[in-house]
Amino acid sequence: MCLGIESTAHTFGASIVNDGRIITNVNRTYRPPPGIGIHPRKASEHHVTVSEDVVAKAIKSPNGHQFHPDIIAYAAGPGLGPCLRIGATVARALASFLDRPLVPVHHGVAHLDIAMSLGKARDPLAVLISGGHTAMLVHLNNRWRVYGETQDITLGNVLDMFGREAKLPPPGGRSVEDLAKRGHRLLDLPYTVKGNDVAYSGLLTAAVNMFHKGAGVEDVCFSLQEIAFSMLSEAVERSLVQTRRDEVVVAGGVAANSRLREMLESVAKDHDASFYQVPVEYSGDCGAQIACSGSLAFKHGAKVSNADSYVIPRWRMDEVDVPWVPRN
Ligand code: AMP
Ligand code: MG
Repeated sequence: MCLGIESTAHTFGASIVNDGRIITNVNRTYRPPPGIGIHPRKASEHHVTVSEDVVAKAIKSPNGHQFHPDIIAYAAGPGLGPCLRIGATVARALASFLDRPLVPVHHGVAHLDIAMSLGKARDPLAVLISGGHTAMLVHLNNRWRVYGETQDITLGNVLDMFGREAKLPPPGGRSVEDLAKRGHRLLDLPYTVKGNDVAYSGLLTAAVNMFHKGAGVEDVCFSLQEIAFSMLSEAVERSLVQTRRDEVVVAGGVAANSRLREMLESVAKDHDASFYQVPVEYSGDCGAQIACSGSLAFKHGAKVSNADSYVIPRWRMDEVDVPWVPRN
């Protein structure tokens, strides 16, 4: 039984996973005022305030029974330093008080682990799309290898930054999705794909400019989604063909978007690949992804002493050994 603690950015979460099953998953998210981004210190203060309550709820079953986790996992990175340190501090305190092993988890690997655990993929092309990542990955020689990625900002950033400029309620991705459903006109926005990579900053600037010049926000949201998601779909299609995988797994907060899901699913279908999408409930940052990944990592020998339990704000996916993929 693993207690997982997430605190890399906007969300402080805690979850109990037992034998691969998600038992509890309690999350509280810091929401800055409209128009303002996440200030790392403010988010970390939020995490301090909610942490005790979140953990207390996560270790309690609906009938009041208290769980006794065998291991404590925490998101060691990548993420915002002040936020990461809150989760790590809570995890260290629990591990030493309960005398349990402490397991560091890579937040991006954890997004893929929960998506893989809840689907049936064995050795897929993984598409990780979130606030921190936009990447296509395949597993090779013990690690997730980045086959294509964004050359500048992530897809989550595009949607969040547009949302802030247009003063939409956070998270930007959800607001853009809602407004896009009422847009019809495809505006002329830049489309930048280079091989297996995408670049989004020109698209974001153009969309923001169009909004400020008076183009209707619904049409701008519709066009932003169509262009940004088509770019990603093209890069995913090329990666899928070149890597010869026959499964696609989509994970991360932006995977909640139904239009994007539709596009990626049609790419998979065109190439006779099975398509697995993380359930919306577990797409964004959450304790369950950390508990899930921590259980797998611990079974493969990962643990760290309190003294060595650093946080790693910048940590690439391909720096982490992931011996539990491909699955049997
Ligand atoms: P994560 O870092 O995995 O929690 O993902 C956060 C990102 O997911 C943020 O950029 C959100 O704007 C984005 N997001 C959340 N819901 C949606 C949605 N329905 N459509 C697109 N993006 C979304
Ligand atoms: Mg994330």
